[in-house]
Amino acid sequence: MCGIIGYIGAGDVCRIIVSGLKRLEYRGYDSMGVAIGNGGTIEVRKGAGRIDDLVNRFHMLDLKGDRGVGHVRWATHGSPNDTNAHPQLDCTGKIAVVHNGIIENFDELKRMLEARGHVFRSQTDTEVVAHLIEEELKKHADFEAAFRSALRELRGSFALGVVYADDAESLYFARMESPLVLGVGDHGMFAASDVPAFLEHTRRVVLMDDGEYAILRRNSWEVKEIESGRTVPKEVHEVSWTLEMAEKGGYPHFMLKEIYEQPEAIAATLAGSLKRIGEFADMLYNHDKVILVGMGTSFHSALFGKYILQRVLGITPIVEEASEFRYLYDGVLDDDTLVVAITQSGETADTLAAIKLAKRSGSKVLSIVNVVGSMATRLSDGVIYTHAGPEIGVAATKTYTSQLAVLAALAFTANDDRDGINDLRKVPEKIRETLNVRDRVAELADVVRDKRGFFYISRGVNVPTAMEGALKLKEISYVYAEGLSAGELKHGPLAVVEEGTPVIAIAPADDLYKKTLMNVEEAKARGAFTVLLSDEHGDGDAADFQIDMPEMNPLLTPMVYAVPLQLLAYELAVRLGRDPDKPRNLAKSVTVE
Ligand code: GLU
Repeated sequence: MCGIIGYIGAGDVCRIIVSGLKRLEYRGYDSMGVAIGNGGTIEVRKGAGRIDDLVNRFHMLDLKGDRGVGHVRWATHGSPNDTNAHPQLDCTGKIAVVHNGIIENFDELKRMLEARGHVFRSQTDTEVVAHLIEEELKKHADFEAAFRSALRELRGSFALGVVYADDAESLYFARMESPLVLGVGDHGMFAASDVPAFLEHTRRVVLMDDGEYAILRRNSWEVKEIESGRTVPKEVHEVSWTLEMAEKGGYPHFMLKEIYEQPEAIAATLAGSLKRIGEFADMLYNHDKVILVGMGTSFHSALFGKYILQRVLGITPIVEEASEFRYLYDGVLDDDTLVVAITQSGETADTLAAIKLAKRSGSKVLSIVNVVGSMATRLSDGVIYTHAGPEIGVAATKTYTSQLAVLAALAFTANDDRDGINDLRKVPEKIRETLNVRDRVAELADVVRDKRGFFYISRGVNVPTAMEGALKLKEISYVYAEGLSAGELKHGPLAVVEEGTPVIAIAPADDLYKKTLMNVEEAKARGAFTVLLSDEHGDGDAADFQIDMPEMNPLLTPMVYAVPLQLLAYELAVRLGRDPDKPRNLAKSVTVE
């Protein structure tokens, strides 16, 4: 995820672009850059670092122009450095491109373009777009035709913004599975990844759809289909959001926004990782012992990893909390061990300590990380990125389900299981469907708002989901909760269950469904208020409250069943007057032991 903006008009171009980028900083902040067109010239200033520092370092606000594009980056291809920062240029320096997304076929295109003499400077996937347009310009007289022809070659996801030196009248944009909106101003036209980028200048927006491109001119805009080149009639909408609402995409909290971003995050994660995951899948086979480590939510991902690797590949990894790892494995690791380290930030102190111990002992380390260039990525032998974009809410949501997507992709790829991969690609759609349960979850939150202790139970692959559900509730609503295997309930915790204690069962209709339902009945017999999350209706009246879930591959249900549990934690936190984005006593990334 990253942010793009473009502006053409009579205003102070660079100032408008830079202030827009600041509003988009939540989408990415490892690098930034602008390309400002002034008649027939383009000036590019860009670098790795934070916006304010770069604006000062490159005297960006002194640039004069009549049009331009800008970018805040959250790297997916190539580490965050000055060369990889956007805009990316073609060989002539006349075409400047900013991009949010992943060009999946960039290596094929790059090879083809290199064979035709194009010289690449960066490691980004984005740079192929600039060279491809340059190549197409050899065949097409006008820029629009070359741009459209290049777009038709691209696979993957993109929101693109392009300035062309020889066309001082226009800016070009395109959208495919990455957000992009147009802004219609009195003194110029805007395009951006998100409305807040231009909200201080205009409230009139045009929503672009996938497969469309736009041409902006000082006083006009036009949207066309990439495939046919036909004009698409579009309405101008007036947005009523305040700036604060707009920054959260219209949601009251970042956490809720991030819950809703999960389909996009998982799709981006799969687009970014599936192609290269094969080599990492081999690492699983080349080692006698596999140990998965993580902390907090990432520890729950590790637990899911154990189930999915066992069920799909028949291997039985060990799972450890990273903080305990060194007390167990100092002196007993060797080069036959693969440590899979899971960390959103890549800076979690306990996980870094585990990685260092593994490296010292000659073991190989594969990391699953959301932040490109973070410490974990530098220490590891292999890295698979989740492409969930920056997560602002302290409680992990979209990075959790993206981690699960990587682990599932790893297992299915290692087993060459095409059906599994196909089912995995359907998960974003299943989550979209599931997000419709929000009202039902809100009803549940009203019923249980005064309860002070919750149990989350499941069997099999969803035991980690139960644990994660309980963790979310503790983190943001400060209500005590325990997540455990349903079988464990009667070995002690059942004694705590009393009249009205909420017991939430995660029970997709798989081979363990009936067994979990028995535990639900057991709890109900002790007076519990039972809640069932399932695609099957609880036999009889075992459940006091049911949340209907979509039918799907049972192994992948943890990604989808996590969603109503995140929503429940959120709804309860809000009812109890907590700030879900900033829970007390907690920090986003725990960089101390
Ligand atoms: N794939 C591009 C890069 O790595 C864009 C990054 C993004 O959209 O997050 O530079």
